[in-house]
Amino acid sequence: MIPLLIKDVMKCCFCGKSALKGGTPTTVPGTGIAHQECYKKHLIDERVFKTLNLRHLQDSELSELSDLVQMEKNARNPAAGEIDLWD
Ligand SMILES: [Zn+2]
Repeated sequence: MIPLLIKDVMKCCFCGKSALKGGTPTTVPGTGIAHQECYKKHLIDERVFKTLNLRHLQDSELSELSDLVQMEKNARNPAAGEIDLWD
């Protein structure tokens, strides 16, 4: 049996390099260990925000989400000017 070295186990599941070097290690639930930077890049590449994968939304759902985001941004910063969504 070949001994399994801890450095072989501690590889970033996204870039394959040692998770203990070249970045901040983190544990990705259900996936394994990764660099935080690689994990963030992966979420952006996959269009994931929190638990929502934007790629899984239908066009109408994505449009509705976009409107809701704009409405929330306007509510938080009314001085920036209002955008009428219904024109
Ligand atoms: Zn990595």
